Amino acid sequence: MPDRTPITIAEGDGIGPEIMAATLKVLDAAGARIAPERIEIGEKVYRAGHSSGIAPESWASLRRTKVFLKSPITTPQGGGFKSLNVTIRKTLGLYANVRPCASYAPFVATKHPKMDLVIVRENEEDLYAGIEHRQTDEVFQCLKLVTRPGCEKIIRYAFDYARSHGRQKVTCMTKDNIMKMTDGLFHQVFDEVAAAYPDIGTEHMIVDIGAARLATRPERFDVVVTPNLYGDILSDIAAEMTGSVGLAGSANIGEHVAMFEAIHGSAPDIAGKGIANPSGLLLAAVMMLVHIRQGAVATKIHNAWLRTLEDGVFTADLMGQGEARIGRPFGSMDFADAIVERLGRGPKKLRAVEYADAPQPRSTPGPLYTRAAPKPKQIVGVDVFVHAADASPDFLAGRLATLAHQPRPAGFALQMITNRGVKVWPGGFPETFCTDHWRCRFVGVDASGAPREVTHGEVVDLLHNLVSDGLDFIKTEHLCNFDGVAGFALGQGQ
Ligand code: NAD
Repeated sequence: MPDRTPITIAEGDGIGPEIMAATLKVLDAAGARIAPERIEIGEKVYRAGHSSGIAPESWASLRRTKVFLKSPITTPQGGGFKSLNVTIRKTLGLYANVRPCASYAPFVATKHPKMDLVIVRENEEDLYAGIEHRQTDEVFQCLKLVTRPGCEKIIRYAFDYARSHGRQKVTCMTKDNIMKMTDGLFHQVFDEVAAAYPDIGTEHMIVDIGAARLATRPERFDVVVTPNLYGDILSDIAAEMTGSVGLAGSANIGEHVAMFEAIHGSAPDIAGKGIANPSGLLLAAVMMLVHIRQGAVATKIHNAWLRTLEDGVFTADLMGQGEARIGRPFGSMDFADAIVERLGRGPKKLRAVEYADAPQPRSTPGPLYTRAAPKPKQIVGVDVFVHAADASPDFLAGRLATLAHQPRPAGFALQMITNRGVKVWPGGFPETFCTDHWRCRFVGVDASGAPREVTHGEVVDLLHNLVSDGLDFIKTEHLCNFDGVAGFALGQGQ
């Protein structure tokens, strides 16, 4: 049928097929105009030799329909298997993870009956870039990458989401008091983007106190936008606080493709018994319907689902919770039938939802990110990371200082040595614990000792000197000024 929107669906593993069948039954009865295309993902595909859990031909369906409703999968234990979710998010550029977390008190027991917030988490970068290295015997490194395009895209998305969903406030959470450059960029872009949304309230919180407030006073939050790692943790805490992680759905939104799923896993312990709660996948499907401009159908399903909870119709996982849960638990399909019976009816106590059916254009049209002209960049020095066990800062400094000025008079000056970021030379404290991993900062100086620009070739010469002297350098980071502004942090204690 031409007015049906093609979507890709995957039944997944464990309880996946059961909750997908229940979800599709409700969607069909509610009149969702969708044309599902099935693909196989998960355990069977992993075992067939596809290390990412998805076969090459399935990508074609995802790229054609651009909408993916996905049941949970089982990731096989052991090395060699890559997370399918991470692969899909990164390959298809699904930069925004959106997780609404609402309480359904008194029908589902929770300590936070007034909670109704949405976590919008950056989904592609931060510490999840997967760039990790062992650097020395003692030290392992994970690279935290935060980019201006990444920040602009997610923060604009959060504000657009707030505006189109009638939300009043966006709270940004970062740790920019410590990570001044990476989290500092996220905060700075938040302030820049916020200026274009004067109708939406804004605040920034350091993530530690923000998380504490979220756990004790969730009702004071509306939309929360965060970098990847904090959002990952906060969104599970927030979902659990509503009374059950089994009730939450999430959307992974990209510029081209979007994926919708429950937040729980494949629950192998109850698979095949027909007792799983399909609510997480159903609410994910509601988000999908809003995404494909079928807001009226989404509204009908969501309100019938709320009414079903109010009427005391519960799957086994929620029995014994909230208002006097007695009687028999409903199986997955019986629960779906109960929702179908209530289509067209809404909740009496819980707040009914209403999604717009008309297309919702982004409030800031145009490309999500426009690359600015590159700024003039100067290399003014280099941090050289050295692997040296049992070295003392003074001994290392003595060796490095002589090497810095060879072979030219205008060379480098050793400015400082840090260990795990703490300055240990000059003027270090003997109490500071040192590992075998030293960051040695060289800055370019002329014959009079004044700062100067250095070249890549001079950095290579410096490294050559170090290696000739038997020093084991692990890696370097250039110290650059962008338009005259330092693009590097000071050492702790510098
Ligand atoms: P899980 O979420 O599958 O299960 C945790 C507990 O919650 C279990 O007791 C389970 O019975 C219960 N539960 C979960 N969903 C339920 C539902 N809809 N109805 C009733 N009870 C439900 O987490 P796990 O046991 O840590 O992981 C099992 C598998 O799922 C693992 O292989 C894991 O890798 C995978 N997983 C997949 C996804 C995904 O595909 N997005 C997410 C998380 C975990």
